[in-house]
Amino acid sequence: MTKLFRFTLFGLLLLGSSLMYGAQTPKYIFLFIGDGMGFNHVEATQIYAEKVGTDTGERSLLFPTFPVMTQVCTRSASHLITCSSAAATALATGEKTTNYVIGMDAEKKHGLKSLACQLKDKGYKIGIITSASIDHATPGGFYASQPDRSMYYEIGVDAANSGFDFFGGAGLLEPRNKRNPSAPCLYDLFNQKGYSMYRGMEAYNRNHAKDKVLLFPVDTIRGSLEYALDRSDKELGLPDLTKACLDNFEETAKKGFFMMVEGGKIDWAAHAHDAATVVTETIDFDQCIRMAYEFYKKHPNETLILVTADHETGGLGLGNSNMNLNIELLKHQQCSQEALTKTMREMKSGEMIPSWEDMKAFLKKNLGFWGQITIAPREELELLVCYEESFLKKKSKDVVSLYAKDEPLAVAAIALLDKKASIGWTTKTHTGAPVPLYAIGKQAHLYSGRRDNTDMANILRKLFTIK
Ligand SMILES: [Zn+2]
Repeated sequence: MTKLFRFTLFGLLLLGSSLMYGAQTPKYIFLFIGDGMGFNHVEATQIYAEKVGTDTGERSLLFPTFPVMTQVCTRSASHLITCSSAAATALATGEKTTNYVIGMDAEKKHGLKSLACQLKDKGYKIGIITSASIDHATPGGFYASQPDRSMYYEIGVDAANSGFDFFGGAGLLEPRNKRNPSAPCLYDLFNQKGYSMYRGMEAYNRNHAKDKVLLFPVDTIRGSLEYALDRSDKELGLPDLTKACLDNFEETAKKGFFMMVEGGKIDWAAHAHDAATVVTETIDFDQCIRMAYEFYKKHPNETLILVTADHETGGLGLGNSNMNLNIELLKHQQCSQEALTKTMREMKSGEMIPSWEDMKAFLKKNLGFWGQITIAPREELELLVCYEESFLKKKSKDVVSLYAKDEPLAVAAIALLDKKASIGWTTKTHTGAPVPLYAIGKQAHLYSGRRDNTDMANILRKLFTIK
């Protein structure tokens, strides 16, 4: 073999392997995580969409129609029931860890590198989108390595150091280090690392940078985006963030991109046992997936869309008395339990305490009680007792769940509506139930069959021949 021939053969082999590599791997990867979204959360929302329809006129969710559908085991290294940070670590890095640890091994000895970080090394653009804050457990799993998910400042430092291209969410929970006041403010740190921060879509649309973007709502004090059910048109929503990131990447991501989009507050509403809000958050999440699907239709041979959850929240059951499922009753709920609580508190602290008749009118307007929904005398009595304890005797305490402290009468009223809608709940926290996985596009078939949460990252890692 002449030298020239050998050289040419070697060149051809190299070219072949790079073509093979390109042929195997998706160029555009979407990972949608419905936080807390179990099978029944999806089915309740699907029934709602069929019977009531969505705000945008659809009569079905899109993602349950994807050709690959299976179940994912969610257990963590320490518990059969995972927390969000251990689940995010598994989904993002392909390794299980102890509950409350984020991006580190189960013994908290070393940091784990996420697939997103590895794809970034390969030139992919990385976008992290969430309806929670960007330092929350699920987004954090993709860039942070900390022994505890509540170390928000340190997780924020990891975000600033990640070099990721687009962060969209409800801001940062601890921009200043509570334990060390001399440590730099995270907003300054992001700035030093070349990020441009925008508050609200108006500011973003005016003149935004193409590289290294932080997109937050105008008000970041809340720590999460408004629930879709409570959101005004002006307020930043998860679909806005998804669109902004996707538009940016369509223009700038020449080598490819990886986008993680978290419907973070499906979980929050489920912790609070607020079924109508679970359903509307899931519809909002589906709206984001529809955008990815439109993109997929333009690039079907290069795009992979994965939709899954980190765990199930609430033990949501479909059916609680007979063979009827009355999910459509949820349409009468006009705002979340959180918003109901807020208004009731304002009423309570006002000069005139509302009478029971005033309160009935309020519940009629917001939940359809005594109007479209029949309330039996014994059910009214239960609400009345709750009202008297809370509003007249001022004896009752807030009802505490993981992300909310709710007014007892609001909780009692929502519980009654959920019961009438045939929804049951088994727990205020997570369950060990498997979660669904839906996939479409390039290499989606590899995800069929019973899956583990670590497979999300590891199947792709194999394709990209990353260790
Ligand atoms: Zn949760």
